[in-house]
Amino acid sequence: MNQYMEETNGGLVHTYNRFPVVLDHGEGVYLYDTDGKKYLDFAAGIAVSGLGYSNEEWKEALKEQIDHLVHTSNLYYNTTCGKAAGLLKKASRMDRVFFTNSGTEAIEGALKAARKYAWAKGTGRYEFIAMTNSFHGRSMGALSVTEHDAYRTPFEPLIPGVKFAVFNDLDSVKKLVTEKTCAIILEPIQGEGGINLATPEFMEGIRALCDAEGILMICDEIQCGMARTGAMFAWQKYGVKPDILAMAKAIGSGVPVGAFAMTEEVAEYSLKPGDHGTTYGGNPLVCASVAKTLEIYEREQMTEHVKEVGAYLTEKLDALVQESDRVLERRGTGLIQGIRLNGPVGDVIQEALKEGLLIISARSDVIRMVPPLVIKNRHIDEMIRILQKVL
Ligand SMILES: *Cc1c(COP(=O)(O)O)cnc(C)c1O
Repeated sequence: MNQYMEETNGGLVHTYNRFPVVLDHGEGVYLYDTDGKKYLDFAAGIAVSGLGYSNEEWKEALKEQIDHLVHTSNLYYNTTCGKAAGLLKKASRMDRVFFTNSGTEAIEGALKAARKYAWAKGTGRYEFIAMTNSFHGRSMGALSVTEHDAYRTPFEPLIPGVKFAVFNDLDSVKKLVTEKTCAIILEPIQGEGGINLATPEFMEGIRALCDAEGILMICDEIQCGMARTGAMFAWQKYGVKPDILAMAKAIGSGVPVGAFAMTEEVAEYSLKPGDHGTTYGGNPLVCASVAKTLEIYEREQMTEHVKEVGAYLTEKLDALVQESDRVLERRGTGLIQGIRLNGPVGDVIQEALKEGLLIISARSDVIRMVPPLVIKNRHIDEMIRILQKVL
């Protein structure tokens, strides 16, 4: 442990498993530690830093906003919030947006919006159907729809009325539907759960089921959204529109912000003034970041770029599966991909760190790759070279 690590941990209870590195600054797709060592970043702070590090235009926008106004609370209107909401509506193709401070809170809001919709319509519906291997956050509500025993067990009982269906098994979902089912929640691409892509049939089947039974469809695109799949949001790639969409991570490029959005039809019956709120949510600073992020994504045609480099990453990872006995399969699409190894990935990740590559796991046997979206093919080559060496 070096001096900085001790300072970081000084007097604190350890609540995180951390890598033995203290990061100091970043430039493009590289991070530098306090000893000046350079790391190629394929983690992006867990799918957050889409623009990479130290983007001048983004930094300027935030500095300007700090000089102007940082916080007012939602007692008043603020101009950046309106601007960010407008751009996010356009990008997500949803009708109404509520800003939160994290992904977890976006999920809480989405669940509350669904319950309120059912209540206002007088349907008596309150149950949620979630999926195996899901991850939606760690608060009591979000944890209740997260299927991961280690995360759940110490905190039980969680909120009642949640059932789990098998991801990508439509029949298993149908079996759980009752006249009390309020909403079905899923990640179109499961991130924490091991980079599992929903099949088009599953997404379409859930939509049809929801339409037939009067159930709301909630998509959690906190990790897979914001151009990572080559579409601004993954639902657009599937052509299956949710009623409620949860977003966070990359929407603010690193400032803490999330959002949930809904269609006009849901909004009409759902949250009314006083039903839900947050002091910081949508404050001028984070909204300046969201607005600038979306502006840059659109101008730079980020989705097109991701399609190109994503195809290259696919090709290189497929080749790695062919050449290495340890790599069993490639998963995912665009710049949210993973490789499943024939055992735990911890050692590989630690060795990669020594070689100057930041990668993370998803469950125990999958290496997850969610790099900044601005990576180029040569960075993919560099990552593959290090992985080949480490494997
Ligand atoms: C990260 C994540 C969350 C939780 O977001 P936080 O900002 O950590 O609260 C929820 N759902 C998915 C799919 C995520 O990847």
